[in-house]
Amino acid sequence: MMTEINRQIVLASRPVGEPKSTDFEMIESVVRGPSAGEVLCRSIYLSLDPYMRGRMSAAKSYAKPIEINDVMEGGVVGEVLSSNFPGIQVGDFVLGAGGWQEYFTLPGASLRIVDPGRSPISTALGVLGMPGLTAYAGLLKIGKPESGETVVVAAASGAVGSAVGQIAKINEARAVGIAGSPEKCRFVVDELGFDDCINHRDPDFKEHLQNACPDGIDIYFENVGGPVFRAVLPLLNQFARIPVCGVISHYNDTALPEGPDLTPLILRSALVKRLTIRGFLVFDFVDEEPEALEHLTQWVLDGRLKYHEDFVSGLEGAPEAFIGLLKGKNFGKLVVEVSPSDKV
Ligand code: NDP
Repeated sequence: MMTEINRQIVLASRPVGEPKSTDFEMIESVVRGPSAGEVLCRSIYLSLDPYMRGRMSAAKSYAKPIEINDVMEGGVVGEVLSSNFPGIQVGDFVLGAGGWQEYFTLPGASLRIVDPGRSPISTALGVLGMPGLTAYAGLLKIGKPESGETVVVAAASGAVGSAVGQIAKINEARAVGIAGSPEKCRFVVDELGFDDCINHRDPDFKEHLQNACPDGIDIYFENVGGPVFRAVLPLLNQFARIPVCGVISHYNDTALPEGPDLTPLILRSALVKRLTIRGFLVFDFVDEEPEALEHLTQWVLDGRLKYHEDFVSGLEGAPEAFIGLLKGKNFGKLVVEVSPSDKV
């Protein structure tokens, strides 16, 4: 058995507000070989996702926080180096909760085999992975778009939002994206085929959004919260649905914002317009995963569901890339190439 060194990024301190590079630390340990039922893998692609900000905080949430000095959590596609699990062979590619490190050892039962012949293996972290499933479940199981309805989604060039708008189009709805730059908006319309896309940093954002939704909004797929939600609220139609997927503009907040109490406005809108506002986590739809994956894969193969990946080279680049994700610096699904594979 080798005595390879495993470079790992651990949580050094809990961020207050925006994470800083000093909240992370690179350490080295010895690679641990697999025990019975376990598999040892070399990390190829590490997924960076907004939920990781929540795990860095001690605040109570739906999942336990990462402890100080523990390896940062994250989904990884790796190549199997050694396996004590029947059904997983050396050389297979697998998806698992590998974390921010160059090697990981996990129970084989927790891993999903990734077929490199079907789609590039990195897509198991994006359009054919957790973000794609999130878009599929949130839009189709909660939003339930009907032909001709207007679907609005922010972070529209990102992993979840890009799929939401395209799945809306597949379901014959009108898709309006919201994104953080003219370049992102152009991509969302020209490459992804949304009907329109509005820049939320533009001073006339509210007016532009209203013009882009002449028949109001039937589904607002909530990814960001904050000023975007406030611009959407008056445009919602009766019986509009709001799958609440994420509120990334608030993840670095340390306190409630100053200003008027918006509770009456929001609740009165919910009452008068008979809104459905439903939060969800992708895990809530685990039973739908096979169906979703089948549809998503088919759409990707048919060219109806496009995806864009933003690759960062080397594990050491992960902290800065993650800090940038919370400010909109990524363009598409953010993936760290931890080590290249010569097989794919
Ligand atoms: P993205 O790939 O979309 O990257 C995040 C994007 O969020 C940025 O590129 C930026 O886009 C946008 N953003 C960041 N800060 C702000 C801000 N202050 N105001 C408006 N937009 C902002 O990430 P994902 O697709 O992975 O995630 C999108 C959302 O979905 C997140 O809220 C995430 O937490 C949530 N999510 C929820 C899941 C669930 O189970 N409920 C599962 C997966 C994701 P831009 O420059 O265009 O503004």
